[in-house]
Amino acid sequence: MMTSRKLLEQLVAFDTTSRESNLALIDFVRRYLTELGVSCELVHNAERSKANLYARLGPAGNGGVMLSGHSDVVPVDGQNWSVPPFALTEREGKLYGRGTADMKGFIACVLAAVPHFLAQPLAQPLHLAISYDEEVGCLGVRTLLDVLSARPEKPAICIIGEPTELQPVLGHKGKLGVRCEVQGAACHSAYAPQGVNAIEYAAKLIHHLMMTGQRLAAPQYQDARFDPPFTTVQTGVIRGGQALNIVPDDCLFDFEVRTLPQDDAQEVLRDLERYAQHELLPQMHAVNRDTAIRFYPLSSYPALYTAEQSAAARLIALLTGSEAFSTVAFGTEGGLFSQAGIPCVVCGPGSIAQGHKPDEFIAVEQLNACDALLRRLAAWMCQPA
Ligand SMILES: [Zn+2]
Repeated sequence: MMTSRKLLEQLVAFDTTSRESNLALIDFVRRYLTELGVSCELVHNAERSKANLYARLGPAGNGGVMLSGHSDVVPVDGQNWSVPPFALTEREGKLYGRGTADMKGFIACVLAAVPHFLAQPLAQPLHLAISYDEEVGCLGVRTLLDVLSARPEKPAICIIGEPTELQPVLGHKGKLGVRCEVQGAACHSAYAPQGVNAIEYAAKLIHHLMMTGQRLAAPQYQDARFDPPFTTVQTGVIRGGQALNIVPDDCLFDFEVRTLPQDDAQEVLRDLERYAQHELLPQMHAVNRDTAIRFYPLSSYPALYTAEQSAAARLIALLTGSEAFSTVAFGTEGGLFSQAGIPCVVCGPGSIAQGHKPDEFIAVEQLNACDALLRRLAAWMCQPA
């Protein structure tokens, strides 16, 4: 029988940085499960260079619990590691390696628990899902959810094993990233009014976004479950112009909206589009018809909040022994699972404080605690839901 630690060693050795294929890792998991008598389904991307893995243990039918994790990790480029990132190194009760916390540690515990689940008289199905391309905008899991939501039977609860130090987390904000391109009209800066200054119009759009952000931060929209307790809007990238004596004919900027579950990021975008359409474009076109403002989606995922009274929240409280429900600042695939009709909670070993950093690690104690939590889950699943 493979321990979670031994499995973690294997999983960390696959370089599954999001830009790489994850097929070697998926093949390893598929072979491991197949040898235990569990059949797997793979859902590939269009290029067939990556895949999600789905498997079911125990009885067929509706309901049951899904355990979900992503196989990809963030890059180590430019990071100063004191240990090899794609190998497991133990030091003083900590296991170092890229993905140990985010989130191969959880996947290792789940795989190590499979023989135990198989040995139990499960009264409900146990679903396993391993995705790709989570770190680049929760992209991969969408195709898996398309397949799963087309089926009559659905898991009743999903546990997303992102690192929360095994604390029960019920939600996080959603995110929308957008690129805006302003196409102006160039001219010699001595005749500035004859041109359309793309940077200045971009500045007006960015200012409009700042005003929107201020409005959404007003006390009546705040929600103390989140930190900061309101939807935030910010511009993170801007590029434009050639030289000071040329009126710039192009400017692009990227902005993001991080929304509370009750706010709609698309509404922020629609409001900006209306402002562009009705206020700015008429002024730009009055000078030059060949000017434009265009918007391109960059990435998005929905917010998550699962009610305290839900079956998912009650189960995770039981498993963790804690009702100190909280939210996290980072995004997960949970919002997409919830949209697909599978209520989610977030709970996994390790800390996000170590995620995405050099010398990422997970404490051995956290792996052991996750092994124990999964045994409690197996016992709970022997009773009908
Ligand atoms: Zn993660």
